[in-house]
Amino acid sequence: MVQHRSDQPADQVAHDVMQHFGPDGRVTIELDFMRAMSLIGTLQLALRHPTLPAQIATHAHEIIGVIKEQIAVTDAIAELIELGFDPNADVPANEGQRCMYCGCSEFNACPDDGTGHPCHWVAANVCSNPSCVAKWVNDGAGEEIYSAPHREQQS
Ligand SMILES: [Zn+2]
Ligand SMILES: [Zn+2]
Repeated sequence: MVQHRSDQPADQVAHDVMQHFGPDGRVTIELDFMRAMSLIGTLQLALRHPTLPAQIATHAHEIIGVIKEQIAVTDAIAELIELGFDPNADVPANEGQRCMYCGCSEFNACPDDGTGHPCHWVAANVCSNPSCVAKWVNDGAGEEIYSAPHREQQS
């Protein structure tokens, strides 16, 4: 039996594990598909960490393998899981959210022409910069929402 020494957390954990799980203890988890995919993605991300200990990396690969066995029921799903190992296949966060007029993005807000404050989104692909809103209104898209309040702000 592992000695219990409460001043050493690692020893305490080793003791608890032996007591509750034994040397071949099993933990059972049940996941829905999306959470299974999220877990795989999280492990794949962790596997890229340069200082991830080899044993944990081995475990991560094993866990991914076990989950994949169960959920990769089609080639498309299997392929999607494999893409997670390839950093070049990463989808940047907020990809596509760019202002269609000035090209500013979630991580690169443009300064408002009038106030100088960083812009915000007024639509999925339109930022709050008055010149952008003006073009948007001109294109007919934002007419109802922005015609009146926008012009008052500028003066
Ligand atoms: Zn803009
Ligand atoms: Zn902007």
